[in-house]
Amino acid sequence: MTASPSIAVIGAGPAGLMLAERLSAAGLRVDIYDRMPSVARKFLMAGRGGLNLTHSEPLAAFIGRYGAQAAALKPAIESFPPKALRDWADGLSADTFVGTSGRVFPKALKASPLLRQWLARLEAQEVGFHLRHTWTGWDGSALTFEHQGQTVRVAADVTVLALGGASWPRLGSDGGWTRLLSDKGVPVAPLRPANMGFRVGWSALIRDKFAGEPLKNVALTFDGRTRKGELMLTRDGVEGGLIYAFAAALRDAIERKGAAVASLDLKPEWSEAQIQNRLSRGAKNDSLSNRLRKTLNLTPAQIAVLREGDQPVTPALIKAVPLTLTGAQELARAISSAGGIRFDALTVAYELKALPGVYAIGEMLDWEAPTGGYLLQACFSQAVWTAEAILQKFGLNIPGS
Ligand SMILES: Cc1cc2nc3c(=O)[nH]c(=O)nc-3n(C[C@H](O)[C@H](O)[C@H](O)COP(=O)(O)OP(=O)(O)OC[C@H]3O[C@@H](n4cnc5c(N)ncnc54)[C@H](O)[C@@H]3O)c2cc1C
Repeated sequence: MTASPSIAVIGAGPAGLMLAERLSAAGLRVDIYDRMPSVARKFLMAGRGGLNLTHSEPLAAFIGRYGAQAAALKPAIESFPPKALRDWADGLSADTFVGTSGRVFPKALKASPLLRQWLARLEAQEVGFHLRHTWTGWDGSALTFEHQGQTVRVAADVTVLALGGASWPRLGSDGGWTRLLSDKGVPVAPLRPANMGFRVGWSALIRDKFAGEPLKNVALTFDGRTRKGELMLTRDGVEGGLIYAFAAALRDAIERKGAAVASLDLKPEWSEAQIQNRLSRGAKNDSLSNRLRKTLNLTPAQIAVLREGDQPVTPALIKAVPLTLTGAQELARAISSAGGIRFDALTVAYELKALPGVYAIGEMLDWEAPTGGYLLQACFSQAVWTAEAILQKFGLNIPGS
């Protein structure tokens, strides 16, 4: 082992960049490799719809969002919690604010201003960037990369894998690493879609006329849980934050039974009696659609969904339209992935038990969470946690501590 250990980080997404920042701040030589011609493409894409960095809810509730992996993620998140992430982002001039839903965003909403400042900091800390380098595994103890048709061999004292999941593969993360690690005896749970849309067998009316239309201020119930929010109709189903909140449970139910029926409330603020009362005030010679529109303020898209099943339109139906979901959208179109390197393959510091000296962080690990800032927060927290473990291993001081 050299006096000043060399660190190779593979994957220049938020997890890899944060780890590189922490280690280089402590004076370590860090080289970061990515297959794409530029860094953090998924992070930039995340900023397109408003970069939701984290969430402001109390920490215990926050950690609970990681479901089955909450206990595994707790130490890392407690050591670098949402408040620390906000401070870090504000240190890069993000001016974060809490939106009405409790979600935390940078003032600019986009990721690019924050990323620009972040890269300037990394360059000042002399992090080496090696783009268009696709990691292909190991040759003996050296890492191998494909770069412009050549094989490049890299020797490093410590390797950190931050290769992401497999959603939106055109942004760089395609899950190709699963085979490389399985071959080395690392247990990897199959990658599956998370935070994705679902297929619904819509009629031609919805497919052709209402795809792309939102259903705002609706509530969805599945498996005894109800949430309010917004859905988006697509040609072959539904997308959007409200369905993503149920995505893991729906996906698992569909895998077990072939389909899942959720219940859609088009007027969550009103009781059946209030709906009946309003409907009875409508002009008798108005068509049903017009009455629904004028008395209940339902949009044409909501009315089309209500009338899909050819059931008589009653207040009870308006409060509980059955939505039969027949399949999950494919992984390539999902917001994130479930599955990945299993936690029992890792030490508490995220070092691979089968490959000492090799660590793994970020979305490539076997956890999932709903949208709301939980995905990025976990990636950042794991990066900081692992960086601290690596610094301790080499007896180096943690910056700022
Ligand atoms: C449309 C969209 C919107 C999102 N919005 C939000 C949001 O608002 N809030 C939130 O919390 N999360 C959001 N996410 C999720 C979030 O962006 C991801 O969870 C996060 O980027 C994962 O970080 P990561 O560093 O683990 O992996 P990634 O960001 O996927 O980075 C992995 C890197 O590894 C590189 N790589 C992969 N394989 C190789 C290889 N073999 N060789 C070399 N390099 C390789 C890739 O090119 C990539 O740069 C969104 C995702 C999408 C798709």
